[in-house]
Amino acid sequence: MAKLSVNDLDLQGKRVFVRVDFNVPLEEKDGQMVITDETRIRETLKTLELLIARGAKTILASHLGRPDGQVVPSMSLAPVATRLAELLNRPVRFVEDCVGEAVEKAVAQMQPGDVTVLENVRFHAGEEANDPAFAARLASIADIYVNDAFGTAHRAHASTEGVARIVTARGGSSAAGLLIDRELKFLGDELDHPARPFVVILGGAKVSDKIQVIDRLIEKADAILIGGAMAYTFKLALGAKVGLSLVEKDKTDIALHALAKAKARGVKFLLPVDNIVATPVDSGKKDKKGRPKMDLTQPRVNIGDNIPDAEEGVDIGPATAIAYAEVLSTAKTVLWNGPMGIFEDPRFAEGTFSVARAVAAATAKGAKSIIGGGDSVKAINKAKLSDAVTFMSTGGGASLEFLEGKVLPGVAALQDK
Ligand code: AMP
Repeated sequence: MAKLSVNDLDLQGKRVFVRVDFNVPLEEKDGQMVITDETRIRETLKTLELLIARGAKTILASHLGRPDGQVVPSMSLAPVATRLAELLNRPVRFVEDCVGEAVEKAVAQMQPGDVTVLENVRFHAGEEANDPAFAARLASIADIYVNDAFGTAHRAHASTEGVARIVTARGGSSAAGLLIDRELKFLGDELDHPARPFVVILGGAKVSDKIQVIDRLIEKADAILIGGAMAYTFKLALGAKVGLSLVEKDKTDIALHALAKAKARGVKFLLPVDNIVATPVDSGKKDKKGRPKMDLTQPRVNIGDNIPDAEEGVDIGPATAIAYAEVLSTAKTVLWNGPMGIFEDPRFAEGTFSVARAVAAATAKGAKSIIGGGDSVKAINKAKLSDAVTFMSTGGGASLEFLEGKVLPGVAALQDK
């Protein structure tokens, strides 16, 4: 059932506790913490502007980093409050805790339209433990609860789940913010009833991370295009040689099961017909975990199913990119999760970028394109095509769990319409 939206509520003069995702990257510069990417702050602005325009008293709560229940000054939300004031072009008050007297006092002084940012909720151990007493302290200053932090909606924490339940039980409203509203529309409604053909592109490192998504999408899609290292586990399962490619040898049965299920349902299931391969050579350096760091040398196109013993598959090849673009050109709905290769290295990004261009071209012809979070969103941004797709999810793990059909605690706790 559709969830109550912040848009549906009478907000005038109400104290609205909003769980946002202000988990932005910070870097120390000249003794001060500086925000290096403010995307997540900008993404909340539409919801915040609606709250301000409708006369709410907006109280913002978020986590930042992993302080594990301790006060860690480098993970303070103070720099976020400062930047938010600039973006909203109005004063934003910052309170150095998220519960207690200082918060109660600050909230009591708020006027309709005012905005207050609370300190990092994860400075208290009760947040991640979803401690009912801590959730009750957070809820004590709220008439209405709004969740707009999709990225943490798969976690049952006090500020994502506990507060919602308490506010609702008291007779208040618990609603989705505009961001979560859109996530539910695109990852939920649009994919439940997709215009056809519905083409799914899946990539990334491991079959095991995506198997539930693959299994569920085989029941909905008309075609599934596989890329990334995941493709090599499928190839291995089919008896091909994969050289030094990243594979999960113990997951070939899962791969065969998926292939059989797709065949039985008449779903087109495409694997790469060529790959970019490279020869790993010990660089003499160690990675963070102390393992030898490999340089990927001598990249070349490898045609066919078998990869030579000394080489590793690092991207889909040009013929595969053309074949995938052709399928995408017929699509009316596209879902993409996971890169086609090691796109962080510009030498192995072309497969991912060519798929990004094909998704953009399908969108221009009227298809709805939905980018399911994490690395695929990074790739679309890198390809400068974010305006050329219909929707990019703001969740990584959360969008994957949602696509698997799991109930997200932070969404389940919101009231139905
Ligand atoms: P995931 O989080 O499962 O979507 O995986 C994303 C990661 O998969 C990215 O960091 C890619 O570099 C990596 N990846 C994609 N293709 C390959 C490949 N052929 N070999 C190794 N890693 C890959």
